[in-house]
Amino acid sequence: MPLDIRKGLVYRVDDIARIEHEFLKGTKDDSLGVYSELFSAKSGIDGQDGGIVTALLISGLKKSVFDVAIVVQRREGYHAEAIIAENINEVMAARGTTYLQVKILPKLRELIGQGKKKIAVVCTPCQVQAARKLQQNLRREASDVEITIIGLFCLEAFNSATLKEELQRLTGADIDKAEKTKIHKGRFIVQLQGKEYSCKVKDLDKAVEKGCRYCPDFPAMLADISVGSVGSQNGYSTVIVRSDVGKKLLKDLNLAKVDAEKAEIIKLSKFKKERAEKALRSLPQKKAAA
Ligand SMILES: Cc1cc2nc3c(=O)[nH]c(=O)nc-3n(C[C@H](O)[C@H](O)[C@H](O)COP(=O)(O)OP(=O)(O)OC[C@H]3O[C@@H](n4cnc5c(N)ncnc54)[C@H](O)[C@@H]3O)c2cc1C
Ligand code: SF4
Repeated sequence: MPLDIRKGLVYRVDDIARIEHEFLKGTKDDSLGVYSELFSAKSGIDGQDGGIVTALLISGLKKSVFDVAIVVQRREGYHAEAIIAENINEVMAARGTTYLQVKILPKLRELIGQGKKKIAVVCTPCQVQAARKLQQNLRREASDVEITIIGLFCLEAFNSATLKEELQRLTGADIDKAEKTKIHKGRFIVQLQGKEYSCKVKDLDKAVEKGCRYCPDFPAMLADISVGSVGSQNGYSTVIVRSDVGKKLLKDLNLAKVDAEKAEIIKLSKFKKERAEKALRSLPQKKAAA
């Protein structure tokens, strides 16, 4: 059975089609995935970009689309972990991006084990795929668990220790003490004591997680709704709506909306897919087939 490189190494083409058919609604685009709306917006919440993810989580809790959300919160230094948020304060405390790969599946299984029925997750495309796979398996067992998936655009994640070393060497900044980190126009920016320290993201190559080179999905194609900064001006987030659940979260939200630069998202999506294809081709034959 052929693999669909666009959406991840673990998926076969018929798996992808089944997931899209079961959970998503809209027009299919090779670089953007299935979607019905694409725009740029800000929420008024001081988040990483337009605070849209936090606004969607608050909206979902208020409308009882879910009772609990798995979010990722920065911990001491430049570390992060998946945590459970059950109210607005806990959701607000998790605002902002930590550019690390954080696994959310153990927390999702923990919540399901506790008998929770309506759960939201915020995660990168690789974790979106894992969550969808679990959701599919649960459905086959006729489970009544509903999982809402908010996906984040993602080009790559970093190894915390190497990132710290490389940023120290290139910018002199100690990322462990950063108030905020962001990636903007190809630069990794550390905000620290009122100053900004930055370097080119491509100079941080050594710190990129090895597996990210093989990952083809930039805009979280299998999420209910995807959010990222690419395609939007500073302070805004790009939003891609992919399902009725995504629509429900957005309904009645008071957002300032403008057009997004769709071409920018397509460009990065194609770049990531081609990078993954190239990395796969360079693998020894035996590993590539595994
Ligand atoms: C590893 C990583 C790489 C990214 N790369 C890109 C990129 O290349 N281009 C791009 O346009 N956007 C990228 N993003 C997304 C971007 O940084 C913002 O998260 C997104 O624009 C949402 O902004 P917001 O203001 O709506 O979020 P906010 O309202 O501030 O909420 C942010 C949410 O993200 C969650 N979160 C924080 N860190 C993580 C994490 N490590 N894993 C999972 N969830 C997390 C928090 O739980 C919080 O709920 C990346 C995100 C991550 C985590
Ligand atoms: S690049 Fe892919 S594997 Fe790496 S964190 Fe992002 S989604 Fe996950």
